[in-house]
Amino acid sequence: MNNNKIKIIGGGLAGCEAAWQAAERGVAVKLHEMKPERYSPAHHLPGLAELVCSNSLRGESLDNAVGLLKEELKRCGSLFIAAALATRVPAGGALAVDRQLFSAYITEKITNHPLIEVVYGEVARIPEEGIVIVASGPLTSDRLAASIATHTGNYLYFYDAIAPIVTADSIDFGKAFRASRYGKGDGDDYLNCPMDEATYKAFVAALLGGDKVAAKDFEKVVHFEGCMPIEEMAERGPETLRFGPMKPVGLPDPRTGVEPYAVVQLRQENRDGTLFNLVGFQTKLTYPEQKRIFSMIPGLEHAEFVRLGSMHRNTFINAPQLLLPTFQLKNTPRILFAGQITGVEGYVESAGSGFMAGINGAQLAKGEALTVPPPTTALGALVHHITSVDTKHFQPMNVNYGLFPELGGKVKKKDKRARLAERALADLTEWQGMVKD
Ligand SMILES: Cc1cc2nc3c(=O)[nH]c(=O)nc-3n(C[C@H](O)[C@H](O)[C@H](O)COP(=O)(O)OP(=O)(O)OC[C@H]3O[C@@H](n4cnc5c(N)ncnc54)[C@H](O)[C@@H]3O)c2cc1C
Repeated sequence: MNNNKIKIIGGGLAGCEAAWQAAERGVAVKLHEMKPERYSPAHHLPGLAELVCSNSLRGESLDNAVGLLKEELKRCGSLFIAAALATRVPAGGALAVDRQLFSAYITEKITNHPLIEVVYGEVARIPEEGIVIVASGPLTSDRLAASIATHTGNYLYFYDAIAPIVTADSIDFGKAFRASRYGKGDGDDYLNCPMDEATYKAFVAALLGGDKVAAKDFEKVVHFEGCMPIEEMAERGPETLRFGPMKPVGLPDPRTGVEPYAVVQLRQENRDGTLFNLVGFQTKLTYPEQKRIFSMIPGLEHAEFVRLGSMHRNTFINAPQLLLPTFQLKNTPRILFAGQITGVEGYVESAGSGFMAGINGAQLAKGEALTVPPPTTALGALVHHITSVDTKHFQPMNVNYGLFPELGGKVKKKDKRARLAERALADLTEWQGMVKD
């Protein structure tokens, strides 16, 4: 019997995965999708689960955290991964798919599931009652966004402004020094990469000459002063950065007692202190250019960039402020969020959050205990990150090994990722056992 116990808004990557997981657990689902009646500026295919841009789901190797996330989803019976494996195309070490076949595969599975009813048409408001999973994606329709805002207040955003993130153990601490401007806070909250005049000038020249990603029509915006791309700021004049995000005042180098000519500040990204972001360095430079140019920063010559900068049209909520690790809204736990709108970034991450929200939506419908994968797994590390980081500077995040808790004991750098993956898969198996019970 179909009681439509869960309503899911959005038949994209997260919404379809959530619907599948809930239905496979015996809970009836009503899945709402506005296509083909209405299309966002980036969607074109009439079917469900459309990949809007690249057809690659990124690397398969466990050496890469997104490879581990895919492996975990595969072991957990993900529809997204089953579709990808069934429709893959050759792509070296990456898992890439035929996007038409991929969407057709998922559409067929979802529409033929006896516990899933697909309803076509835009949902303008979050339903007043019942369990709802909002999975309307980075280009959520305007009317629904307005309804979401009534539940989230100011904690709903329409553009991201992502600065690059590097791993702590790849920073050269012989060059970077700890200090807060004028010794504020704990006095050493930031890492500072000092530049002399010649290095600063070469850096600004590189920013000005760097290749940029062209904005799509629907992404052309006038940026606020506080979140301008770093290269646009550099275009305003040779000294602009030195009086803006690269201001050295109040930051004497403790080794010399002298203020450097310019400074790049790095702020701790996660509680474990394994990741640092480049403050004010949101950018539209292409990824290869970011790696080349930001590696000119003293102390970051050999930095490992776990996330590169970007600026996109992107509807997302402040997850650490609003969400429980179960993907429920703290102030209205019958409402869950899934996909890119939760502040995860990427196809696989969106499907992964749909997987978790689908399971918890089903648990809620059945009156059973909700569950969160351990933070040592890729699924758990991602949810732990988006629900526990600093609410003030929250920006979307892709899965990466910098999000995982450190391994105990001494581990050689070259073995670290293999050991993290091994631990993750062992802990995942244990968690699966508990979830089944
Ligand atoms: C332009 C663009 C390019 C991207 N490129 C990539 C990339 O190359 N690689 C990558 O890994 N990630 C990429 N992303 C990021 C992200 O991974 C994808 O957007 C991903 O599809 C997000 O999954 P989702 O399920 O959250 O949202 P979506 O897959 O977008 O699904 C949301 C669904 O909700 C529907 N919807 C919206 N509003 C309503 C409503 N009111 N009522 C009913 N239905 C509604 C939409 O039609 C859509 O089908 C890109 C994002 C954008 C915007």
